Amino acid sequence: MKLTFQPMDLQLLHPFTISRSTKKIVPSMLVMLEQDGIVGYGEASPSERYGESQGTVAGFLQRIDLMLFQDPFQIEKILNSVDQIAVGNGSAKAAIDIALHDWIGKRLGIPVWKLFGLSKDNAPQSSFTIGIDSPGVIEQKLQEAELYQILKVKVGVPDDREIIQTIRQQTGKILRVDANEGWKSKEEALDKILWLEEQGVELVEQPMPANALEQIAWLRERVHIPLIADESVLRLTDIPTLSNAFDGINIKLMKCSGIHEALKMIHTAKAFNMKIMLGCMIESSIGISAAAQLSPLVDYADLDGNLLITNDPFYGVTLAEEKLVLSDNPGIGIHPRAHE
Ligand code: MG
Repeated sequence: MKLTFQPMDLQLLHPFTISRSTKKIVPSMLVMLEQDGIVGYGEASPSERYGESQGTVAGFLQRIDLMLFQDPFQIEKILNSVDQIAVGNGSAKAAIDIALHDWIGKRLGIPVWKLFGLSKDNAPQSSFTIGIDSPGVIEQKLQEAELYQILKVKVGVPDDREIIQTIRQQTGKILRVDANEGWKSKEEALDKILWLEEQGVELVEQPMPANALEQIAWLRERVHIPLIADESVLRLTDIPTLSNAFDGINIKLMKCSGIHEALKMIHTAKAFNMKIMLGCMIESSIGISAAAQLSPLVDYADLDGNLLITNDPFYGVTLAEEKLVLSDNPGIGIHPRAHE
């Protein structure tokens, strides 16, 4: 198998602010895996939160020797070998995993969701993310998000209430809230979540820092809406210790090393009776379409990263009346825009 990769800078429609950072451009990496004249596409969207950058992704990919493997169907073996190169590097590993799945689907002529025995009729609605901003910009974003019925609102800053009030004055849509570890004490988090419940918020993601599990467990006993782990959960082995503190987990391919492990995480979380959200970073249609292949299995989808950028080099999964539309195209169902 031949592996090639090239940087891909994703341009954001609006600067994207969450509790810890603001971004205008998101550096991503396009990965191509070629064998028998078929090219599988993958993507790494590295997150500084997890110690990755375009540079670390390139460095990691350079250490992979796929010439050792002749058969892309040997996913377990290939990914174990890639995983053992170094700890972390979740998005770089995910890029290889996605490209392998895309290749296999193309080789067999079927979409990946079908390979897993799933039904595209069961694909869920996806939320649309509203980053932290001034009330004026949030009002503009709400207009742009008119088509979307579920909004995921970023909070975790001093003026959280103002953000939610601005949105609630305009719309009664379903709201999910993501604090991105922004609330620093359990008392602050409790106070805010009880207020958010009164605003009809459906769930709260990562209220406190990733390792504050005792405080989050304390919080969980006192609130009435689900608490979903995001920064607290990276990979499969994180799940058992989280089941006391959270009601569910947000699985992202870029954290967990790809589709292969995400599928294991979905079934493990179900065994712990936890809710499952399938989320994303800011990604092109490659990463989003790859995650969407598993969406018929989850409770909540938050797969909108490609909708926040203006220069997506690919077409892939789309939304119709909020529902993710999985195509019958083989692999992860994407094709380059330039080759239309
Ligand atoms: Mg989150």
